[in-house]
Amino acid sequence: MTDTQAYKSFERYRYAGLAVDPIHVGTGGARLGRVDNTIVRDPATKLPKIPGSSLAGVLRTYVAMAEELGRNANARAEPYYPDCAGQGQRRADGSGGHCGQRTCKVCTVFGFARGKDSAGGFAGLAAFSDMHLLLFPVPTREGPVWVTSPGALRVAGIDQKIDDENKVYRKNGQGRSLNLGWLLLDEAKLTANDLFGRLEGLGIPKYIRDRIALVSDKLFSHVVNSNLEVRTSVAIDASTGAAEEGALFTYEALPRASVLCWDVICRFPGHFRIGSGQVEAVKSPEDVHDVVKRGYPYLEALGIGGMGTRGMGRLKVLHASSGAAAETQAQASGRA
Ligand SMILES: [Zn+2]
Repeated sequence: MTDTQAYKSFERYRYAGLAVDPIHVGTGGARLGRVDNTIVRDPATKLPKIPGSSLAGVLRTYVAMAEELGRNANARAEPYYPDCAGQGQRRADGSGGHCGQRTCKVCTVFGFARGKDSAGGFAGLAAFSDMHLLLFPVPTREGPVWVTSPGALRVAGIDQKIDDENKVYRKNGQGRSLNLGWLLLDEAKLTANDLFGRLEGLGIPKYIRDRIALVSDKLFSHVVNSNLEVRTSVAIDASTGAAEEGALFTYEALPRASVLCWDVICRFPGHFRIGSGQVEAVKSPEDVHDVVKRGYPYLEALGIGGMGTRGMGRLKVLHASSGAAAETQAQASGRA
């Protein structure tokens, strides 16, 4: 059996992550309504999300940091970090930028802007979906619950229906009413097939699984958008060290304990060439996945998105240690 036959052309790995801090992945400062710095939203659902490009960018940086720690300076002169991180710009003297070598884990897995001697770039062996909101924490008079909807669950491959669009479904719902923030809804009992098992499979902790509140997609969007964190901050004048006149600004964030879900598609390296040769740094989709995973501990420590110096952005990947629920090509095509 040759190497090529031993592997499928891709593997999909699905992850859930828990916001350890509020997370702000901004749109670039456009003012919308009462908030100066808004977060990215899905155009169809109006739900906040984190673009896959943001995730790919921070993981690239973190993997480059990890690679640099293990670099043998005799075997390789140029550093992985910062050269192979970032967007690959060269310094003014022409040095730096993505190395673009077949043996570089960062450049093969995350791609590179251009090869040596300004040859064509490479798209990278790992592809990242957007990070979608799966479970959203909301205060109620009975303590926090994690709200979700059929549409939010579908993104995680979970099929769950509801009968009444105006009710909130809970594990032990008993026909009372429950407030989700300012919204008061009648409760109904949540009858689930594999919902709780699938959430457990994604690594969602029991204290969250026990406090799921399922609502319609329409209500979910309302509940989320009226319970986002809005913080007020003030710009500091660098010359005086005091607050600038009129420099008060507000920004939105996903609250701490939000749960996001995303997919990483890892391609089979043997199908790709860099320049005239085979990719050498990784040999299988599993190898590609192993490289991606090295960035996850950094995500929990250094975070994603803006306002990192204001205590924002840290994200704990829930399933990284035991290996994510891999879905093979055969399973994916069988469902399509
Ligand atoms: Zn490189």
